[in-house]
Amino acid sequence: MSSKVVLITGASSGIGEATARLLASQGATVALAARRIDELKQIAADIQAKGGKASAHHVDVTDQAQVDRLVSNVVAQHGRLDVMVNNAGLMAIAPLTLRKTEEWDRMIDINIKGLLYGVAAALPVFEQQQFGHFVNIASIVGLKVFSPGGTVYSGTKFAVRAISEGLRHEVGGNIRTTVISPGAIDTDLKFGSGDKDSRDFVVDFYKMAIPADAIAQAIAYAIAQPASVDVNEIVIRPTVQDF
Ligand code: NDP
Repeated sequence: MSSKVVLITGASSGIGEATARLLASQGATVALAARRIDELKQIAADIQAKGGKASAHHVDVTDQAQVDRLVSNVVAQHGRLDVMVNNAGLMAIAPLTLRKTEEWDRMIDINIKGLLYGVAAALPVFEQQQFGHFVNIASIVGLKVFSPGGTVYSGTKFAVRAISEGLRHEVGGNIRTTVISPGAIDTDLKFGSGDKDSRDFVVDFYKMAIPADAIAQAIAYAIAQPASVDVNEIVIRPTVQDF
């Protein structure tokens, strides 16, 4: 882990933050990216105060030019890129009948296009280095549609799994692809819906949620395997979660 440079999108809170903190504690150099730069700087400073190596980078993953610049800056600053964790995401649960098309667009832009821009930016670097590792954060709702309410969010996570499987198959060689599919994890994700009834339902459902560190541990496990071992997918739920 100690020689790895890991770029994490959506590192200003939740799973991304927990992953940055854990990997840094294991010796990795972590580049934290998201829109809330003050939060990122605070987390990076915290990691550095504990002896870790971290940098903070503003990015909106829905803007391809920004994602390209992010990857170039990280490579310029740290000399290489070993792992791209495409983690930034939005969950805006609401019944289709409410026609919240603006939230549909945002989920598609962040969860699918944002992830694809991460792939587009990092892939040439990985090809040139002849190694690299994509860790793409999907969801258990990418295995089974969570409905009513989760249809579009589920659609984006089915897409993450499809894109990741195609990516693994297409690039192969020395480039690894891991999909992480979490169940209910205790983060701010549950507040993403603009529909109060749906939000209340999700907040109640999330009473069973487990800490983000459970996902960070899974990501660390996948990264720590020898280069010849590609952990393709890990599904993690709270023990009590049925769905
Ligand atoms: P959080 O809401 O805590 O984190 C989401 C992160 O995404 C934030 O850091 C946010 O940062 C970032 N983000 C959102 N939009 C953008 C954008 N346009 N550009 C850059 N960054 C953005 O939730 P989680 O940690 O739970 O979510 C992380 C991932 O895990 C998501 O992909 C989510 O779908 C997935 N997941 C989570 C589950 C859960 O139960 N929590 C279950 C299954 C999957 P900022 O606002 O600063 O930009």
